[in-house]
Amino acid sequence: MNFQEIKDQDQSYILHTYGRVDAALVKGKNARAWDVEGKEYIDFTAGIGVNALGYSDPEWVAAVAEQAGEIQHMCNYYYCPQNTALAEELSKASGMAKAFFCNSGAEANECAVKVARKYGEKRNAYKIITLVNSFHGRTLTTLAATGQEGFHKDFLPLTEGFLYAQAGDLAGIEKLMDGSVCAVLLEMVQGEGGVIPMGEDFVKGLAELCQERDVLLMVDEVQTGVGRTGTFYAYQGYDIQPDVVTSAKALAGGLPIGACLVGEKLGDILKPGMQGSTFGGNPIACAGARVVLRRVNDPGFLQSVLEKGAYLKEKLEAMPQVEYVRGRGLMLGVKLKVKDAHDVLVECAKQGLLILTAKELVRFLPPLTITKEDIDQGLAVFQKVLEG
Ligand SMILES: *Cc1c(COP(=O)(O)O)cnc(C)c1O
Repeated sequence: MNFQEIKDQDQSYILHTYGRVDAALVKGKNARAWDVEGKEYIDFTAGIGVNALGYSDPEWVAAVAEQAGEIQHMCNYYYCPQNTALAEELSKASGMAKAFFCNSGAEANECAVKVARKYGEKRNAYKIITLVNSFHGRTLTTLAATGQEGFHKDFLPLTEGFLYAQAGDLAGIEKLMDGSVCAVLLEMVQGEGGVIPMGEDFVKGLAELCQERDVLLMVDEVQTGVGRTGTFYAYQGYDIQPDVVTSAKALAGGLPIGACLVGEKLGDILKPGMQGSTFGGNPIACAGARVVLRRVNDPGFLQSVLEKGAYLKEKLEAMPQVEYVRGRGLMLGVKLKVKDAHDVLVECAKQGLLILTAKELVRFLPPLTITKEDIDQGLAVFQKVLEG
């Protein structure tokens, strides 16, 4: 099929929930991808922060293919050595105690909400504080958790029990903690909200406040996790230990997985029957995740993420059309002085560079394994589009 036929098929048979760009990718290798007509792209998206090891990394492919040839799925009534091993490896990488596996970021956050409600149940504390401009998912409960009006208005009524505070406003959060609050949920760098890193004092102060008030500190690491910001989880760069951590996107390197990780005191909060997922902890996804975890959770690898991020940031800041760059590691948002971010995205795709936007910023989430050559080639396209 040629591109037009694919586009026609999409128009006829797929719900139009995405504003799509004209390219149908059929093959990829690390940070390069090819479309159905053979055109080559440099990829600064990693499938929205999913393909941590790039497209079709050979070691990841081998592990996934091998597991598919052994046993592809079993029901969660039986033990699965791939998911028990991944849980132990995640515990060691994160300092968290136990994992519940599901299939997406929204589901991981749903589980966090359930954990929080069980935690507050005895004292009738069921409210959860989230931040204005946050993003936590598309289910009705995680939409309610998402502190952006724009996402709410089409789907009212949402799940009740969410309160919103401004990022950085510790006093405001303290005011909301009136005894009915069981948890605070936040991202260390707001991703969809425009690549906005949380300040160190705010995060540390919040951790202390939560501890004082017996309120759970829950960190949504769905986008920031798995090496993206230069530490395995972004909270590890803030020197705090959350009560609950949610992870998804990059965790299995391109296969659907989500995880809700809890600390020691929450290890037995959910009893058999309280939570479940047919596909959760699927052995193929877990086999992929174990390769990702082993490769990414290595000091040299994480250092390379920081170095590449710093290099990319420096080059972008030197472009006269760029107002500022913010973010951490290989999670960067670029504010342009004049051009519209979405127009730039469309033009970049035409010229062979795949990028993202977040609010009015251009957003880069390249594979963590991207080479310096590919960064340079992508930047050359970006520069040309900004000049054009
Ligand atoms: C993408 C994202 C989610 C939702 O993940 P899905 O896998 O799409 O459900 C939740 N939180 C954050 C911070 C995200 O970036």
